[in-house]
Amino acid sequence: MLAGELALARVDVAIVEQRASQDLAGSRAGGLHSRTIEILDQRGIADRFLSQGQVAQVAGFAWIPLDISDFPTRHNYGLALWQNHIERILAGWVGELAVPIYRGREVTGFGQDDAGVDVELSDGQSLRAEYLVGCDGGRSLIRTAAGIEFPGWDRQPAT
Ligand SMILES: Cc1cc2nc3c(=O)[nH]c(=O)nc-3n(C[C@H](O)[C@H](O)[C@H](O)COP(=O)(O)OP(=O)(O)OC[C@H]3O[C@@H](n4cnc5c(N)ncnc54)[C@H](O)[C@@H]3O)c2cc1C
Repeated sequence: MLAGELALARVDVAIVEQRASQDLAGSRAGGLHSRTIEILDQRGIADRFLSQGQVAQVAGFAWIPLDISDFPTRHNYGLALWQNHIERILAGWVGELAVPIYRGREVTGFGQDDAGVDVELSDGQSLRAEYLVGCDGGRSLIRTAAGIEFPGWDRQPAT
């Protein structure tokens, strides 16, 4: 999503992804809430998701279902759509925006100076960029290498 946003702002951007293909193990998240659909709509891509999922009233609080069909929004519903489809559609979008995706290569480290960042890849190559953004998940190598903490608890305490 960030790569798409940057490309729309005419920023020269590239993605490094360790997975060799768009395939995603497991289904993971099951859909999108109203606000996310609104943001995708602002980018002109909401229909791509809506056409492949199932709209439904999915909002809730403390297991109490909330019907938001009278909310003043074009998207007063949620969307059931598995994460592997969400990622596939987003990848198609950034592909149209001509964002290069370096697949099958892991970021193994980086070094930074005042002018930018050298990003080391597992195939021995490196990329030079002004900025490096760690969109590499909860166990982020980028965050860890940059010394950025991820404070919190491993799991919810029992009640
Ligand atoms: C089994 C499971 C079930 C889940 N169910 C739900 C759910 O029902 N609802 C919900 O909201 N969320 C769910 N989640 C959580 C949701 O999937 C994550 O919150 C979401 O994917 C996080 O997005 P992200 O972009 O931060 O990281 P990720 O989706 O983890 O994306 C990080 C990407 O970076 C790549 N990467 C990582 N390290 C490197 C590296 N060194 N070099 C190159 N590439 C790298 C990874 O291959 C991956 O493609 C679930 C997660 C799992 C594992």
